[in-house]
Amino acid sequence: MILFGRKDKLLATREIPDEECESCGEKGGVVSIFQIYYHIARIPLIPLSRKTASQCYSCRKVKLKKNFSNQQKMVGELLRKETKTPLWTMMGAGLILTLLFIRFLIRFS
Ligand SMILES: [Zn+2]
Repeated sequence: MILFGRKDKLLATREIPDEECESCGEKGGVVSIFQIYYHIARIPLIPLSRKTASQCYSCRKVKLKKNFSNQQKMVGELLRKETKTPLWTMMGAGLILTLLFIRFLIRFS
């Protein structure tokens, strides 16, 4: 059983209907933004970076940000501005802090 690791979660997706795929030449695809986070026993601990990727509707080819076209870069930036790092990614850290705080209170009361 893996207790500690990295996970990603889809935050937002935006369609680009007129984006031409460089692999199959078909038009249409999406740009998505993912939140990457560390977890302990599936409880999100700390947020890491956010990752942007695109996918073609026709051939399902996935492209990373470094290979984006200008239009995809623009949409990616937009998504990045619209989405914030979700609070639940800090749930584990919050739990640990709360437990430490309670222990602190008990010790000094
Ligand atoms: Zn394609």
